[in-house]
Parts: sequence; structure tokens; C-alpha cells
Amino acid sequence: MKYTGNYFVKTIGCQMNVYDSEKLASILSSYGFDRTQYFDDADIIVCNTCSIRHKAEEKAFSFLGQFARTKKEKPNLITVMAGCVAQQEGKKAFGRLPHLNIVLGTQAFSRFGQHLESLKSGENRIVDTDDSPMIYETLPDTECFNENNISRFITIMQGCENFCTYCVVPYVRGAERSRTPEKIVEEISLLAKSGVKEVTLLGQNVNSYGQREGEISFPQLLEKINQIDDLQRIRFATSHPKDLSMDLIYAIRDLEKVCNHLHLPVQSGSNKILKKMNRGYTRELYIERITALKEQCPGIGLSTDIIVGFPSETKEDFEDTVKLLNEVEFDSIFAFSYSDRSSAPAAKFPNQIDESEKKERLNELLKIQETLTEKKNQTLIGKTIRILVEGKSNKLRDGFEDLNGTLKQMTGRSESNKIVHFPSEHANIGDILEIEIKNAYPHSLWGYPVGA
Ligand code: SAM
Ligand code: SF4
Repeated sequence: MKYTGNYFVKTIGCQMNVYDSEKLASILSSYGFDRTQYFDDADIIVCNTCSIRHKAEEKAFSFLGQFARTKKEKPNLITVMAGCVAQQEGKKAFGRLPHLNIVLGTQAFSRFGQHLESLKSGENRIVDTDDSPMIYETLPDTECFNENNISRFITIMQGCENFCTYCVVPYVRGAERSRTPEKIVEEISLLAKSGVKEVTLLGQNVNSYGQREGEISFPQLLEKINQIDDLQRIRFATSHPKDLSMDLIYAIRDLEKVCNHLHLPVQSGSNKILKKMNRGYTRELYIERITALKEQCPGIGLSTDIIVGFPSETKEDFEDTVKLLNEVEFDSIFAFSYSDRSSAPAAKFPNQIDESEKKERLNELLKIQETLTEKKNQTLIGKTIRILVEGKSNKLRDGFEDLNGTLKQMTGRSESNKIVHFPSEHANIGDILEIEIKNAYPHSLWGYPVGA
């Protein structure tokens, strides 16, 4: 069945949701809808949701809630809740959003078209939170790419079976399953041919890629992707510390397109809390893996995720996390206040921490990390680093001289994932350039192109 009209897709959440939203967009395009950047012009509005923390869930309800009034003026408007909150809430979503038409769970994408047809034939409310053993495959619509599409996310696996006690993912994304290497390579080759220079491979624990299916290992997959012509850079997230193998460390060291960066979420520096989180490693094991990474891959960029205020986290446990930050010297961290998720076991753990205490610990941690990042960035002054140019920057930095007004201020990213601003007359998005670093700040570096 073909349709006319416009669609608008709103993404809330992680990189995987960004990728999923593109899939939803390509399904809608294949049914004849046109994409619009404005929800006021849309005939169908899809919100792809995230339930990892309470705040993200509330954002989704509030975004979709605003269309109750619009629907009175535009009764044919179709509203869709997709993704993790849809999977978690099922038909309960209609309680807060009576005007909603489709609740599309995380494994229901392949049936989206069928549900649109049911709406056309008179149904008004559809819920699909059924499982699907296969990951839904569609190739990206590269015709709508422009010069800014140099970096893309690619989901290589879905689901998770680690059951960290705070986390909702295993309940809303289902069992772990991987795409075939052939499908992944086909998709990335297509992207590379259409001008994409960098891909970030996504999975909740990429180290266990292909294990259930008896496919090749993750380092072997990296080797295959490394051979794709025209592709310049490969990144990936997320690695689980308990499964980080020496083979993966060697792949980062030896495969020239794999960036010298690793995001390795530690969550806490306290062994007591790590155990309660069911993370499957100790602080000592984590540091051992970091030491191996630093030895094998000098200059590697390291980032992590941390949760503060997990139930029963004492000041001493929190101090252990601070000590770990000082010991590892991450380049950046993503820190979160623990958020109760009713389907995850930790919601029932005793000794929940006060919101105000969590906030205090979070702010303290971010402040400490800001100083550490700036200190680490300062060590790069005078060094030359290679960047991929990502776009124009509107940040004018001290020391920037453009006497005749011909220079553009551009921005790019180093292999180690540092943001680098620089002035240039000739740089284009997608170029690989060498930049001599002149200044360092907590969130970025600043320099001049070598030989410019
Ligand atoms: N699979 C990844 C891993 O094992 O590290 C994490 C994926 S999760 C989408 C991203 C981050 O959200 C986690 O690393 C954790 O720090 C944070 N997170 C997950 N559940 C949370 C919760 N209930 N409260 C606060 N932060 C949470
Ligand atoms: Fe959640 Fe743990 Fe799985 Fe990561 S590994 S998605 S934190 S359950």
C-alpha cells in the first residue's frame, strides 16, 4: 500500500536509538511518506524512546503528550511510540497517551508497515511488543545523505544477557543476538561508497559479538571491516570490561582503521558496589585491563560510564570511584545518578540514596574529571595529531587571527576522540588533517593545520 504525507521522527536516547530511528525513517519512506524536519507539517509522528533512566522516559511521554491537542484539529494525524518505553509499557502507554495510535516495541520494526495498513483499514490502537528472533534488516537510504554524513552508527547486535542489577536493557531489548558479518559488511560498504568516512559499531557488549550464532569473533569482524575501501575510521561501543580480550586489544593496536580509543564502562570503583551491580569484574581486574591497553596501545583515549548513588553506596565506596578516576586518568567520563527502574532488581535493594546526596556526588565527580581532562589535554600542547574534519565550528578561540576574513573555523575529532577546533581556508568536511595543538581546554583542543 502507498501513502502520501509527511513523517517526523524524534529520537530520545542512545546511539542505538539514532540508528533505529533511521530504520523507522526508511520504512516510512518506502511506504511513500516524505520526511519533514518540522512536526507541525507531519501526518505521522514517531517518537523513538529510551527507558534507561526515569528522565528519558518522562521526556518521551511529554513529547508525545503535546499532540493530544493537535489531534483534535488534525484527526488523521498518526502518533507512534517506538522503542524501549513502548516495549516496557505496552498497552499501559494508552493510559497516559489516549490519543496514541501505535505502540511499537523494540522487536516489532519488521511489522510496522503492516500496522500502518491496519490503521488505514479502520483500527485505531495497535500494540506490538512481540519478540522477533531476527534483527530487522534494511539498507540505509543513502540518496538522502549530504556532505555532513561522514560518520554513521551501525548496530551489529541487539539485546543483552548480562543482567546488571540496575539496568532495564535485558528486559526491553531481549536476548542477545548478532547480525551476520555479511550484512554488516554490505551495509558499511554501501555507506563508504556514498561518502561515509567513519562508522561506530554498536552493541551492548560488542565483545560477545557472534557468540550465540557461532559466527566470527568481534576482532575478526573488525578485520573484515578494516578492509572496506574508502572507509577511514572504525569506532565501537560498548565493551564490557569482563569480556575485553587481548585479541581485541591487539586489533585496536594493529588494524589501521580502528581508532586508538576505548569506551570501557566501569560504573563504580568499589568492589562491594560492583558485586551488587552484578558486573562480573573487580576494580583490580578493570585496572589490569586498562594497564594492558595502555601498554599495547600508547596514547589510547579512554572513556567510561559511572553511576553514582547506587543503593547502599557509602561515602567510602564513592571515594573508591574517585580514586579510580585519579588512577586511570580517563580522557572523559559519562556520569549518571542512579535511577530506579522498576523492572530491574536494584529497585528493590535496601538503603536507597537520597536524591540530594546523589546530586552532590555527581557534581563532585564531574568537577574532579574536568580537572583531570584539562590536565590530560594540556599534555597534547605542541604535539601534532591527526583529525577527521567533521564540520564548521562557531567557537572562536583566543589566539585565532583572521585578518582578512578568509579563514573558516572548523572542527574535527582525533582518533582518541578529542574535539579539535582549528582555522582553515581550504579544509572540507571528511578531510583527514594533521593539526599542531596550541591550546587545551577541558572539553576541546585548539590548533593550526600543519603546513597551512
Ligand atoms: N552496555 C553498556 C555497559 O555495559 O556498560 C551500557 C549501556 S547503558 C545504555 C549506558 C549507561 O547507562 C550505562 O553504562 C550506565 O552507566 C547507565 N545506566 C544504565 N542503567 C542506569 C540506571 N538505572 N541509572 C543510572 N544510570 C544507568
Ligand atoms: Fe545493561 Fe549491563 Fe547489559 Fe550494559 S551489560 S546493557 S549495563 S545489563
